[in-house]
Amino acid sequence: MEVCVISKCTYKSETIMFSVSEKSSMVDVSKTLCLRFRGLQLGSFTLWYSLPGYSSCLLETDSDLDMMMAYLSISNAKTMNILVKDLLGSGEYSGDVCANKELISCEKGESLCSSTVEDRNEFLGRSKRASAKPLLSNEWEMYIHHVGQKFDGGAEEFRLKLCKYALEAGFNFLYADNDKKRVIVVCSNKKLEGCSWRVYASCCESTGCFVIRTLNNVHTCVGRIRESKSKMMRSRVVSSLFVDRIRAKPELKPIEIIHELKDYYGIDISYYHAWFGKELAKLDVHGDESKSFNELVWYVDASKYKGQLLCASGKNGNQGFYPLAFGVVDSETEENWTWFLQHLAAILLPMGRMVTFFSDCNHGLLNAMGAMFPGWPHSYCYYHLKQNLISKYPKSGYGKLLQDRVVNLFSKCAYAVTEEEFKVAMDELVVVGSSKVKTFISELSRDHYAKAFFSKECVMERWQIV
Ligand SMILES: [Zn+2]
Repeated sequence: MEVCVISKCTYKSETIMFSVSEKSSMVDVSKTLCLRFRGLQLGSFTLWYSLPGYSSCLLETDSDLDMMMAYLSISNAKTMNILVKDLLGSGEYSGDVCANKELISCEKGESLCSSTVEDRNEFLGRSKRASAKPLLSNEWEMYIHHVGQKFDGGAEEFRLKLCKYALEAGFNFLYADNDKKRVIVVCSNKKLEGCSWRVYASCCESTGCFVIRTLNNVHTCVGRIRESKSKMMRSRVVSSLFVDRIRAKPELKPIEIIHELKDYYGIDISYYHAWFGKELAKLDVHGDESKSFNELVWYVDASKYKGQLLCASGKNGNQGFYPLAFGVVDSETEENWTWFLQHLAAILLPMGRMVTFFSDCNHGLLNAMGAMFPGWPHSYCYYHLKQNLISKYPKSGYGKLLQDRVVNLFSKCAYAVTEEEFKVAMDELVVVGSSKVKTFISELSRDHYAKAFFSKECVMERWQIV
């Protein structure tokens, strides 16, 4: 049985529909285009199309056409953009020649859909990309699709998904309006070519989520090809892709980010871009830390009892916090902490496994902890240590620059992977921070804050007590 597709082809402001069958040749297709569209001549143009992950597939020979037809038959792709490259001009993509094809599979008879993934990869392997494995970014093309679509993460999630969608669909966009309540985005070719692609989304007051209110998802501009380098690959996008990796492995290097983006997403970014994306992700990780401690403060404020609230929260494998034990005492003494930890031990010890503790470094707590849970991994909260350190360098006296530099070096010490790396960072920190740092460090055991000296259990253990 013959397999055919219906092609929708637009040139300038005219659109035609015609059928391409598996028996069609490139000469047939080119002749049809030239017959129907005035100004288009045989031999004066070439046709290109793109597939997710394969940006420039040349549609020149009958074999190219067979491959495209085969791909459409076995994939779920519903739309196809065909580019016309003008051979008579300067070799640039022609500004006014645009074939926008939408191909709808209308197979008759025997279906080709039963082909395996290997078959598909074999077809794709013949296009320009050497590697045939599917890219993780392929699904991004489905991120923006209909009016009423919701984004629970608000404006931030909407903007991120929009960047990923544009990257995968092969275009750039500009913000016409951009704040927490509403975002309006247009194609970057709106000014030059009058492209009408546009999306408007705004905040839903009752739920706080973002909703697409209007969407014109059809481009009238030329030259949409998914490239490995894209302006849409902003540092915020890098950060969103790597934040979980960096939470688990803070020492992940920018060069590793570059390689992973290339391998898994088919995307090229600069070293600076990778580095900055990593810094943003680190900020997000530390932001989470400060947020969780703010929640504890909220408990204290909410307490109707006079005195101090001692609290232990558990952290599960999904990075979620849950309250484990709390008690109200008159003050944070070693005696009170011992009483609290005795009750905590009654919960933890029967479980028969060691957990990692995270705490601020209250002296009463530290002494009680050593007595009650000797040898259990115990890490000090980096956020608290950082705040302590910052408080020793008031902005007025020493300046913000010095404060930032000291914190930066301390972070290097905390996240150093090897003892050598730790030593290099520490030597510099002591020089830059002078006597104030010396006192701070001398009161702090490196086993409790420097990654290079953590026990293995501390890193491996998923269950933690904060
Ligand atoms: Zn456009």
